[in-house]
Amino acid sequence: MSNEIEKTIIIGSGPAGWSAAIYAARANLNPVVYEGTVKPEMIPLGQLAFTTEVENYAGFPAGNVRAFVESAVDKDRHWNLPPAPQGHEKDGQPHYAVQGVELMELMKQQALNFGTRVIGEDIVSVDFGSDVHKLTTSGGDTVQAKTVIIATGARANYLGLPSEEDYKNKGVSACAVCDGALPIYRGKPLAVVGGGDSAVEEATYLANLKGAATISLLIRRDEMRASKVMQDRALNHPNIEVLWNTVVDEVQGDGKLVNNLRVKSTLDDSVRDLPVGGMFVAIGHTPNTSFLDGAVEMNESGYIRWTKAFRTHTSVTGVFAAGDVADDYYRQAITSAGTGCMAALDAERYLAELE
Ligand code: NDP
Repeated sequence: MSNEIEKTIIIGSGPAGWSAAIYAARANLNPVVYEGTVKPEMIPLGQLAFTTEVENYAGFPAGNVRAFVESAVDKDRHWNLPPAPQGHEKDGQPHYAVQGVELMELMKQQALNFGTRVIGEDIVSVDFGSDVHKLTTSGGDTVQAKTVIIATGARANYLGLPSEEDYKNKGVSACAVCDGALPIYRGKPLAVVGGGDSAVEEATYLANLKGAATISLLIRRDEMRASKVMQDRALNHPNIEVLWNTVVDEVQGDGKLVNNLRVKSTLDDSVRDLPVGGMFVAIGHTPNTSFLDGAVEMNESGYIRWTKAFRTHTSVTGVFAAGDVADDYYRQAITSAGTGCMAALDAERYLAELE
């Protein structure tokens, strides 16, 4: 165990983690970010590592993104950048919205530029004390810190079909608000899987897009879990068709994009085709909190509880939470980044009070 006691350790490397690091580094907290390695939980760069274009992150309109990204991000990390989308040009220049990995590499770079130290390991267990918190790394070390910012995010649940895996980002998504307006889905009939509030919200969002075709909402039972008001919204929407007692058996396509779902009745196992250009899975999220082993207070779904209104404090003094790990409601990159900033400011103020 190192005897050094860090001021701030940040766990997680999505928008919350990097924003916390930028603010903490600029406040001279000399932060260390544990970036994560384990799939599917602690993904380096978080959930955005699975996304293509991010069209709703304020400050990043479509443009010649690649030129900027390559000029900003250290050359030794260019290998990690996905190819720029083809066929998106304006005035002879590439013209597209920043891709998830590009956005995260930019945030990481910004954190590095201010002196953040980054370690490519996970935190696998914690021992939160009153003043000093001990964290065990996946490499077997124990590190200590006065403040800890937990920004390990949540992961979208998927159906678990091999065909679903084959078509992720090619017509399968777990976020309609993020991806629904992308050209690959535009004007096509689409399916949303799930019967909770999220599924109805996603279906309604898609059904309200300009030029939307029919949105099929696939419910595995004969009733929805969603609240009554949300159910009514789905049932009364002219563009939404609710398919009761229906599950997806196989996602099908031409290898490049989804063009059909083979769906199965949960009543009699009969199967039929549902021609769609995309499938949005909205069957809940799982917060990445198992490594905490209950060390901070969580809600019934395992999300960390913020214990002060409009603050990122947790039930443990000196431990703060930011991003989707503490937010089962908004779950957007920009809201995560916002709470990452808040957590760093909360940590800074806590340390100032200690001193
Ligand atoms: P929920 O857990 O509420 O709903 C998950 C849905 O997915 C259920 O209908 C469930 O079916 C279905 N499901 C789960 N696994 C499968 C599967 N393998 N195949 C098919 N269907 C499956 O998750 P949500 O993300 O919808 O909501 C999470 C929380 O966020 C809730 O508290 C919700 O109220 C809240 N929320 C509120 C919103 C609002 O107020 N505007 C918007 C979005 C979320 P079954 O019912 O049969 O188990």
